[in-house]
Amino acid sequence: MGNITQQAEQAIQTIKDNGLWKNERAIQGTQNTHVKVAGREFINLCANNYLNLADHPALIKAAHQSLDNDGFGMASVRFICGTHTIHQQLEAKLAQFLGVEDAILFSSCFDANAGVFEALLGEEDVIISDSLNHASLIDGIRLCKAKRLRYSNNNMDELEEKLKEAQSGRAKLIVTDGVFSMDGIIANLPQICALAEKYGADILVDDSHAVGFVGPNGRGTPELFGVMDKITLLTGTFGKALGGASGGYVAGKKILIGLLRQRARPYLFSNALAPMICHATLTALDIVHNEPQRRAQLWDNATYFREKMGQAGFQLLGAGHAIIPIFIGDAHRAVAFAQSLNQNGVYVSAFSYPVVPMGMARIRTQMTAGFTQEQLQRVISIFTQCAKECGIL
Ligand SMILES: *Cc1c(COP(=O)(O)O)cnc(C)c1O
Repeated sequence: MGNITQQAEQAIQTIKDNGLWKNERAIQGTQNTHVKVAGREFINLCANNYLNLADHPALIKAAHQSLDNDGFGMASVRFICGTHTIHQQLEAKLAQFLGVEDAILFSSCFDANAGVFEALLGEEDVIISDSLNHASLIDGIRLCKAKRLRYSNNNMDELEEKLKEAQSGRAKLIVTDGVFSMDGIIANLPQICALAEKYGADILVDDSHAVGFVGPNGRGTPELFGVMDKITLLTGTFGKALGGASGGYVAGKKILIGLLRQRARPYLFSNALAPMICHATLTALDIVHNEPQRRAQLWDNATYFREKMGQAGFQLLGAGHAIIPIFIGDAHRAVAFAQSLNQNGVYVSAFSYPVVPMGMARIRTQMTAGFTQEQLQRVISIFTQCAKECGIL
């Protein structure tokens, strides 16, 4: 005999005993290169605010204008009376930006991923999924009846094995993150595309950690590798580089997006995105187009930080992305290091199980275009000093 309250108490104790308890710290004011917490200012190294648009005046102005013109909320799902012209404008602009036929908005990319598989695949089909894919892809795949096969992260030999195993299936869909966010690794899209072609599979890329800043025009990982036309479906978020509010999308062929509007459950049964978010996201896409220097600055910062941190002796994970994780291993040590950094004015977060595998704890840093090189130099010296105090260097 038991009850859920007793079970919760036990589960919480286990989480705490393992050093895995996550505390939330409340930011006052805006999300930027610096944040204020409990009256104190910190340099912020853990936001997904890659292009530093989260408090950009043009986005705020667009949201204000939309509030005045379009009101606060839609109070309806899309197909009843929740479709506003701004939704259609954003869907059209997104499709144009990504170079695909159509796009459909969701309240989040989590919802997009929760809805896309069940709507398009049945039990005769096979989904072949990277083992490090985002939780929302894993959950979305679980919700669909297709057969599931998994290959270890970016392991192309294993992907090929699974594709062979999938040959008896009807449709085959390879599913991957464009960027694996816990490790800062970019998916091997050229090889995935080659294998997809060889075995007649489609590809879905969740480009949440790339859209807006990866690739020559910020179109994401498929643009980076020049394989845009080989990807059947793209999903992504507005909650990271594109202003950081909320909202997600699926983009691809008109016929697929059309079916999603009829069948994707988070689209059918969840409220339409607030107009002000759509308006500000349109402005974010304009900035991505008009200000390539933001991307250039982001990549300069990421390259500089990675190089200098490596020279300082830190064990860094990943490559070629603005996510630069510092490997620690033990969860308690990672938490202690993060606390020491926080005490010295650097805002970072320790990542541990279940977000990453047991014993693979890390401090994940993320670059933004907003940093100056002087600020980064200061960050690096604080990291070095704290690491010595914590016995990490
Ligand atoms: C952040 C993220 C999501 C979730 O996006 P939301 O819009 O915040 O729900 C989904 N997939 C990947 C790969 C992500 O990094």
